Amino acid sequence: MEEKRRLIMLPGPTNVPDRVILAMMKPMINHRGPEFAALLSSVADGLKYVFETKEGVYVLTSSGTGAVECAISNIIDPGDKVIVPVFGFFSERLKETVTRHGGNVIEVPVDWGKAPTAEQIEAAIKKEKNVKLTAVVHNETSTGVTVRDLPQMAELAIENDALLLADSISILGGDHLPIDKWGVDLCVTGAQKCLACPPGLAMISVAKRAWEVIGKKKVKPPFYFDLPSIREHWLRKETPFTPATLLYYALDESLKMIREEGLENRFQRHATCARAFYSGFEALGLKPYAAENVRSNTVVTATLPSAVDVNKVKDIMKERYNIVITGGLGKIRTLIVRIGCMGAVSEPAVLATINSLENTLADLQYPVKIGAGIEAARKIFHSK
Ligand code: PLP
Repeated sequence: MEEKRRLIMLPGPTNVPDRVILAMMKPMINHRGPEFAALLSSVADGLKYVFETKEGVYVLTSSGTGAVECAISNIIDPGDKVIVPVFGFFSERLKETVTRHGGNVIEVPVDWGKAPTAEQIEAAIKKEKNVKLTAVVHNETSTGVTVRDLPQMAELAIENDALLLADSISILGGDHLPIDKWGVDLCVTGAQKCLACPPGLAMISVAKRAWEVIGKKKVKPPFYFDLPSIREHWLRKETPFTPATLLYYALDESLKMIREEGLENRFQRHATCARAFYSGFEALGLKPYAAENVRSNTVVTATLPSAVDVNKVKDIMKERYNIVITGGLGKIRTLIVRIGCMGAVSEPAVLATINSLENTLADLQYPVKIGAGIEAARKIFHSK
């Protein structure tokens, strides 16, 4: 059965431009030959541009979680102290990953919908001696919250001889994240979010300070996620194991598209689309779940009125209006809607989504003034 093409407004995967899909229509190549070496070089250059780093950025054939696990398992020895602010579903998972690798988690609990602050991290680092790593979900995809204090958290890591790991899976390529300027030691992302690629690849940047720690690690890293081996192969323009070659072509094309647009323009586009979403929500009487000062530009969330069933919203949006959005995760699974404002997101996509959400609420007998949401969202695009 051929799948219907719908507007995918999920917080990953996102809509993939045809150019990126068509880039994969290639014959098989030897991944230990000159064609793959050339492809890998091009991808490596593109990633340095998007990560804004001179250091190495490596591609893993895995989803984003693989890159998170790779980072943790190459840094942490059993008993090492790791600060993890927990403020949503993905930071819970990050905590669990550290625990599974024997790390001693110093949890900084934060209410869902809010972001951890540099002051909270500083207090934890000062209280605990010898913290090895602060591991932060940069954009909490379950709540639509961005950690705006990430640069200060990186400074704190440097001052206290610790490292900073950012899980930037749902934000890198959609909002500011200059790795070298901010001093982020390890940063991970996934292809299927703001880079607008199909799922299946993850990326990890590793700065000099992180390599020093990796070099002193006592317990060997996992065989598949051995960063020194990955780096060694990367220098020869290879990967240790069979890479998803076709996805590398897709990534290469999407990185070219990002360069053509320019990072600053891309960030502006995401920010404008996010403002239009929040303005549209407000006009529909829906409150964003995230606190105002930490609202994400790449994942937007809104609390549903208690009488409205999230599954019905999702179903009507999909079946009647052909737009795919999703609900909450974990303890707020039924309370909110989450919408991806990522990758190829544009004015037509935002207006179509707000329009459909407005109609869906009306279909569910929720009293909305038809036209209010779209009018508010439209104003954002036209008041520039
Ligand atoms: N971390 C964050 C912040 C995410 O948003 C996601 C996925 O949505 C993940 C981790 C897990 O990524 P994946 O599903 O690609 O393994």
